[in-house]
Amino acid sequence: MSDPTPYDPNNIFARILRGELPCTKVFEDDHVLAFHDINPQAPIHILVIPKGAYISLDDFGTRASDGEIGALFRALATIARRLGLDDTGYRFLGNHGINAHQEVPHFHVHLFGGHRLGPMLTRKPVEQE
Ligand code: AMP
Repeated sequence: MSDPTPYDPNNIFARILRGELPCTKVFEDDHVLAFHDINPQAPIHILVIPKGAYISLDDFGTRASDGEIGALFRALATIARRLGLDDTGYRFLGNHGINAHQEVPHFHVHLFGGHRLGPMLTRKPVEQE
């Protein structure tokens, strides 16, 4: 499924990027900003976002430059290592669209760590979907 609507320049992460809302920054370079999630789902829960205006991975993977895409993946590994998660383990996750419950329409990757993270997904019978 493609992103159905245009990028909303007033989404929460766009406002954080413009400095209109605060964040607890853990990493920044030319292409990437990373900060603590406001409602952490693990002892360490970081959001890693491109500085460019992309709605989700569908948009990022289609329009972003190789440099932007490379920078995001390199930032993920760098942040995980700086936080000591490369030793103990971590998970990174991205949501796109309705089925994945994406809430903020600016592409972001969640980085989780700090304890045993449990199964990758909760299984549920198809009829409950
Ligand atoms: P998603 O469901 O993948 O769109 O995740 C959005 C994430 O953004 C959630 O984990 C929220 O807790 C987080 N979030 C929302 N507002 C803020 C904010 N102002 N600062 C940091 N994280 C936020």
